[in-house]
Amino acid sequence: MIDRASLLHRAATHATNYLATIADRHVGATATADQLRQHLGGPLPQAGDSGEVVIDALAHAAERGTVATQGPRYHGFVVGGSVPASTAADWLVSAWDQNAGVHVLSPLVAVVEDITAGWLKSLAGLPESWSTGFVTGCQGANFTALAAARHHVLAAAGWDVETQGLFGAPAIDVVVSDESHYTIFNALRMLGLGASRVRRIPADEQGRMRADALRAALANDSGPCIVCAQAGNVNSGAFDPIDQIADICRQRGAWLHVDGAFGLWAAASPTRAHLVRGIDRADSVATDAHKWLNVPYDCGVVFTAHPASHRAAMVMGAAYIVETAAERDPHDFVPEESRRGRAVPVYAALRSMGRQGVADLVDRCCQLATRLADRLQAESGLTIVNDVVLNQVLVRVTAGPDHDAATRAMIDHLQKEGTCWASGTTWHGMAALRVSISNWSTTEADIDRTGDAIVRSATAE
Ligand SMILES: *Cc1c(COP(=O)(O)O)cnc(C)c1O
Repeated sequence: MIDRASLLHRAATHATNYLATIADRHVGATATADQLRQHLGGPLPQAGDSGEVVIDALAHAAERGTVATQGPRYHGFVVGGSVPASTAADWLVSAWDQNAGVHVLSPLVAVVEDITAGWLKSLAGLPESWSTGFVTGCQGANFTALAAARHHVLAAAGWDVETQGLFGAPAIDVVVSDESHYTIFNALRMLGLGASRVRRIPADEQGRMRADALRAALANDSGPCIVCAQAGNVNSGAFDPIDQIADICRQRGAWLHVDGAFGLWAAASPTRAHLVRGIDRADSVATDAHKWLNVPYDCGVVFTAHPASHRAAMVMGAAYIVETAAERDPHDFVPEESRRGRAVPVYAALRSMGRQGVADLVDRCCQLATRLADRLQAESGLTIVNDVVLNQVLVRVTAGPDHDAATRAMIDHLQKEGTCWASGTTWHGMAALRVSISNWSTTEADIDRTGDAIVRSATAE
């Protein structure tokens, strides 16, 4: 007989010990893939191991095999951590094991999803009437939004894409930015809209789509059109001029989609909300909860101004689903059927932080980014190559004969040294270190340690 309670307590002890030391450990993983395979692999046992053995083995391997993305000095890829209430709520979700697809399978999760959707819209400055779907991440959110867009613009042209497919359909003019995130192209690929037949609008030196170039590209055109803009460039943190782009799209009759994977949360801060001005005039918005909102994986969110088009793009209308009263079925707004109650940790994060707490989180990360940029800019031999408008800092070594090689060597040293972790990127053809500050637990002292480590790595032999 398995003692479930003692096993769950054991896992909780491992988890809390893991998190208790997260700020002090080497930030990168220190175990190799082979070491991990040796520790956890081998043939599937004929007779099962006890739960204790399994959980202990995983917890032990996690000490060196995980990356400390939950820690305060992980600055890679705009990852974010998870606020404690959301981690705890996620444990409840696993214990409940609810299917969040339809209301009748879990009234609790369906209602929490409704409440959370409303709170998110109010934080992001989006109208209450918009539809919402909770997906795996911003890739899923971009996909879902663009599926709704595809439905909407083709329906307006008299074509039912869900039943007829794209063969013989009116062509859709898909317009993206030169700096659109690759998940936009992935979504277009999967939707049969083609990753390469799109028109690309040039971006300015900060990576913002040029509104004048968009206006010229769309002038005098008609017919189905989808424009993809971005709130938060994954390198520089810059925002496309959404207000102007919304005007141009209105005039053209185009569907405007905004990828706001992390940048949407600028809307939650009174000091940064101007960056997303006009986003309430978009037709769809995609974002992540698991990045800057500091919720555990996985959770992205899609919002659209057109609930009927959103639903039409997702629902097959399966006859065996019993329609309960007037309650919303969560699966009507996502590509998945069965799924976990991923809105519950978002609810917990929002309720535990409150409106003020989310604004503080955004502001604090932005202030820390500025603090780091100021510090590094003061060093001779280092250059900040972006305008730090949000939580992203791009830094480059500008000493010695070969700045790209010196920058790459600095990144390599930094990652191996383990005080912090940030990734390399290419910005305007130049190598750069990209530092993203998006974790609730990062302090000024952490940022100063990160700054020291970057300076040390830039001057290391
Ligand atoms: C991270 C990111 C995505 C993809 O989000 P996932 O959660 O990884 O699916 C899309 N767009 C932008 C701008 C991003 O930063």
